[in-house]
Amino acid sequence: MNIHEYQGKEILQRFGVAVQEGIVAETPEQAVDAAKKLQQKTGTQWWVVKAQIHAGGRGKGGGVKLAKSLDEVKEKAGNIIGMQLVTPQTGAHGKKVHKVLIAQDVYYPGANPTKEFYMSVLLNRQTGRNIIMYSTEGGMDIEHVAATTPHLIFKEEINPSVGLQPYQARKIAFNLGVSGNAFKEMTKFVSSLYRAYVETDSSLFEINPVLKTSDDKILAVDAKVNLDDNALDRHPDYKALRDLNEEDPTEVEASEHNLNYVKLDGNVGCMVNGAGLAMATMDIIKLAGGEPANFLDVGGTANAQRVEAAFRIILKDKNVKTILVNIFGGIVRCDRVAQGIIDAYNSIGELPVPVIVRLEGTNAKEAKELIDKSGLKVYSAILLKEAAELVTKVLKKING
Ligand code: GDP
Ligand code: MN
Repeated sequence: MNIHEYQGKEILQRFGVAVQEGIVAETPEQAVDAAKKLQQKTGTQWWVVKAQIHAGGRGKGGGVKLAKSLDEVKEKAGNIIGMQLVTPQTGAHGKKVHKVLIAQDVYYPGANPTKEFYMSVLLNRQTGRNIIMYSTEGGMDIEHVAATTPHLIFKEEINPSVGLQPYQARKIAFNLGVSGNAFKEMTKFVSSLYRAYVETDSSLFEINPVLKTSDDKILAVDAKVNLDDNALDRHPDYKALRDLNEEDPTEVEASEHNLNYVKLDGNVGCMVNGAGLAMATMDIIKLAGGEPANFLDVGGTANAQRVEAAFRIILKDKNVKTILVNIFGGIVRCDRVAQGIIDAYNSIGELPVPVIVRLEGTNAKEAKELIDKSGLKVYSAILLKEAAELVTKVLKKING
């Protein structure tokens, strides 16, 4: 689960990581209030207005602007809120901005120049260990650094049985070339960041840039945080961090019904129980001359409500020309699923596309009888081969 920069920074602060202070705003007026409060709190004279979307590269896309007066805060917040922000990570369509973070300007000119670093914590799946990745070349274009000068990106692997060791934090600070008070600040930054990553069950914490200010403070100026979905049960409070504006509406609806749904580009909708069977079904659809329109796993309890929700979701996709339901009755009995399909039909009404139902497993025969006797326009099958032949037949009919 992705969260916004402002939410990531709140988490970081809880773990003692110093951040560029900011207040989130949804209107230009709120932005001005936020700017005033920040001035009182931090003494800042200038501010940055930062678009809050779940994508990086905002600076490049015009979603991060410096404001040198309250009037400019108002003007720039007004420009950014509501804009369709296109960045290298959003795709051509961009993402609509609903909120901005008003942040203190931390690049104020001083005797010492500021310096931008890159730092992230993530799981190395090859070794099964967390690593801290860092570089002296922070700022906007870490992908370019990785492609052209990979030796400037360092990796520190953490042994899970002992955790991050103090010598490792010192090594990182040393490699980043900081000294004096900044060295001490950097070791603290690294260990707090790592603790935040571990204790929040995250799969990514990426801070780019990490800033050394002119007075030797080390600050997180940006925060890209990915919380591990599999750990959401351990953190009920994360629900509040979710921003549905950032997600595909159909996928949101699917997750509300505990359906695993991913939209694809084909013409044959599929409703399947179990991820493995779903993948096999998509292969069968291709063999039968179709293209899967989606991946949809209704899970172990394919009851009437679930089946109905699944039909509704699949039918939102106008590319769908036919639906193949392929359910294996192991835990769930096939006749109950069949009844679920019939109930769903009765509740939705006549479906606009032909449906092919293949039920196999416990009570498959009874299920087929139920479907055949229901009088609904449903093709039924028990063998997968029959189902595939039906897909071919239906597609032929549709394509003329
Ligand atoms: P991203 O482009 O989505 O990664 O967003 P960032 O939060 O990293 O901001 C983009 C860029 O804006 C940074 O690399 C900085 O150069 C700049 N920036 C961020 N905060 C400030 C600030 O307080 N003052 C100034 N002058 N620039 C800032
Ligand atoms: Mn950034």
